[in-house]
Amino acid sequence: MRLRKLEMQGFKSFADKIELIFDAGITGIVGPNGSGKSNIGDAVRWVLGEQNARQLRGSRMEDIIFSGTQLRKPLSFCEVRLTFDNEDGALPVDFSEIAVTRRVYRSGESEYYINRNSCRLKDIVDLFRDTGLGRQGYSIIGQGQIHDILSSKPEDRREVFHEAAGIMKYRARRDEAERRLENTRRNLQRLCDIMDEMELQLEPLRVQSENARQFLTLSERLKDLEINRFLRLSGSLGVRTAHLNERARELTEAHGAGERDRIRIEETLGEHRAALMESDEEVGRLQQQVMDIREQLSQRRSRRDVLTERLERMQSENERISAE
Ligand code: ATP
Repeated sequence: MRLRKLEMQGFKSFADKIELIFDAGITGIVGPNGSGKSNIGDAVRWVLGEQNARQLRGSRMEDIIFSGTQLRKPLSFCEVRLTFDNEDGALPVDFSEIAVTRRVYRSGESEYYINRNSCRLKDIVDLFRDTGLGRQGYSIIGQGQIHDILSSKPEDRREVFHEAAGIMKYRARRDEAERRLENTRRNLQRLCDIMDEMELQLEPLRVQSENARQFLTLSERLKDLEINRFLRLSGSLGVRTAHLNERARELTEAHGAGERDRIRIEETLGEHRAALMESDEEVGRLQQQVMDIREQLSQRRSRRDVLTERLERMQSENERISAE
């Protein structure tokens, strides 16, 4: 595995996009003080996952973004990409070239990529574990760090040798396994607590279960009884329905006979009405005759009175003449 290329944009003093190609034979970068040599090391450290701003010689992570000069405005983000040759398969992925990229915005948002595929910081850390390239690997030793390593505690020094010897991977797995074991132990404890709790609930649950069983038996019995009651009711209702049907038939027949009688009576009534009308007419005619006769009688009475009066007058005339 060889370092092929380092690309930076907006990282510390490198405002413009810059590409450093590490062809065979390059052993160092030289330049005047403050020209940005250490910034290159910081960029490598950062893209490999450094999270501590102080390790990058800043106080906040934002300090790694180009902060501007008198002639140039600050940038809003920075990006570093590190490309390795993986022809020898030293990195555990099926690519002959691996590029890891890290980008950060002033808002604090971070992005990580392996071969331009978005990934997590953990994926990058895992990729370089035990290659010596990791964030805390021995391959990047900053100014003054050699002195620190030599003078630090033996345990801290051992970390560096472990990383170099490639046993960090196994230590990480052991730590992970111990973490999982601890989790399982905690889960087991929780399960025991739950079981204790459930055992306390066992007796009330047994009573509840017995009640439920009785309820089911009684429900079955109630269902049987209700079915029997329904069947019996339905039998007696059948007999009653037959009676009622018979009665309805009789009533229908009676109604038919009554209807026929009614028609007959209405016919007779019609005949009588016609006869009555004729009688009324006859009475009218007779009344007219009575009135005519009364009229004639009245006229004749008047005539009789006139004649009677004339007769009396003639009798008295006759008497007078006889007397004379
Ligand atoms: P020396 O040899 O003295 O250690 P060097 O070549 O390693 O120097 P660096 O320390 O890498 O130089 O670079 C320091 C320069 O980077 C300074 O000029 C500083 O102003 C510039 N610098 C650091 N951070 C930023 C930033 N965020 N924005 C712009 N410039 C920055």
